[in-house]
Amino acid sequence: MNKADQLYEFAKTVLPGGICASARSNPAINRPFYVSRGDGAYVYDLDGKEYIDMCISHGASFLGHNHPKIREATIKALDMGILCAYETEYHSALAKRLSEIIPCGEMSRFCGSGTETLMHAIRLARTATGRQKILKIEGHFHGYADELNFSWAPPLDKAGSADAPQPYPQSSGIPPALANDILVVPFNNTGLLEQAFEKHHQELAVLVLEPINYDAGCLLPDAGYIEKCRQLCDEYDVILFFDEVLTAFRVALGGAQEYLGVTPDLCVLGKAFGAGTPISAISGKREIMSHMRPTGTSEHSGTYLAHLTTVLSALAAIEVYSQPDFYTRMNTMSERFFEGFQGLIDQSGLPIQLQSAGARFGLHFGIDHTLKNYRDTVARNTQLERIFIKGCIERGVYFHVALHHGFSAAHTNDDLDRVLEVIEQSLEDVKRAS
Ligand code: PLP
Repeated sequence: MNKADQLYEFAKTVLPGGICASARSNPAINRPFYVSRGDGAYVYDLDGKEYIDMCISHGASFLGHNHPKIREATIKALDMGILCAYETEYHSALAKRLSEIIPCGEMSRFCGSGTETLMHAIRLARTATGRQKILKIEGHFHGYADELNFSWAPPLDKAGSADAPQPYPQSSGIPPALANDILVVPFNNTGLLEQAFEKHHQELAVLVLEPINYDAGCLLPDAGYIEKCRQLCDEYDVILFFDEVLTAFRVALGGAQEYLGVTPDLCVLGKAFGAGTPISAISGKREIMSHMRPTGTSEHSGTYLAHLTTVLSALAAIEVYSQPDFYTRMNTMSERFFEGFQGLIDQSGLPIQLQSAGARFGLHFGIDHTLKNYRDTVARNTQLERIFIKGCIERGVYFHVALHHGFSAAHTNDDLDRVLEVIEQSLEDVKRAS
């Protein structure tokens, strides 16, 4: 038995399923991927073997691993005394910086995970409107808090019809009554969106969505869809809430709201925000944010919220993202990589749909047309996807079994060329198996 298999056997005796988060198992290798360290674009397994990382912490380590500026920020926080649960000059400096770059971000508060920030933001939206119901889009993922953990990957036999999706709880233990406050519509269908507003606007607090639906494999909004969301929210006085946990700093400095040119009332930022350190933000219009205690009545607090190590890391990350050529370079690398990748798919003759935005992408095996909503993704061939991912891992490129993959600013064109070579070889494995 190799070291990783031995560790997994031991881990299973003390961690349920041998893992610390359910998304961490990798079915392509039948266990979690164990690493001993990470550096730049690379992670190293327990034997020290190097892999080019195409998971990059599910998108969080957007500057790569072990970035010198993030190290520096962390060390500065340690030098200041590992301060926890105190305000410093850096907390308001970070909120000020967000107000300069996030279109809706007049005021901000910070949390640890995306889940935590969404939970608080929903409470805030309900406070600000005095209404309860949440309108969400099928296949959009908003973390694991009970009130939002619905219909991000529902089995179709439990999800209602395509034109009347029903809220499906994605975990046991969610009180069934919470489903009464959830309305679900399909992505990119303006007719059903309009109907939901017409019928429910008097009870509706918020429309929440991933402006780019990375979590269902990088599904993009149709032209005019996000504008329609804005228009309906204005017309019916409902809060437009962008979940930018994945899109923040990825597609533009101002996130998807800058990239798509539509400003929500409220958003949450996560993942790339802390460049691998656990910080997220609720950012929004002053009149909504002022409903937070102590100026208002909506509770948002916690001992570990806005830990100084993460606040300093986020400030450092934003400094790097703000360099004039940061997004130009990322976009040029992305174009080159995705052109090469598409070429390999075409050459293989396999039906595989590649969809990308910024440096992140979804891969849909067995599908050869543009996917527009969650139900389009259900026909994916996960068996072939796993063969592909296993082949890549064996050849030194780490892909997690997930609906989105991507690279970081630490990756170079040489790294991505190496990834393309491995992709070409692994597509041969898929061909042989199909
Ligand atoms: N929202 C979106 C769009 C996400 O992609 C994620 C995580 O993948 C979350 C929320 C939850 O964030 P976290 O994993 O930090 O709790």
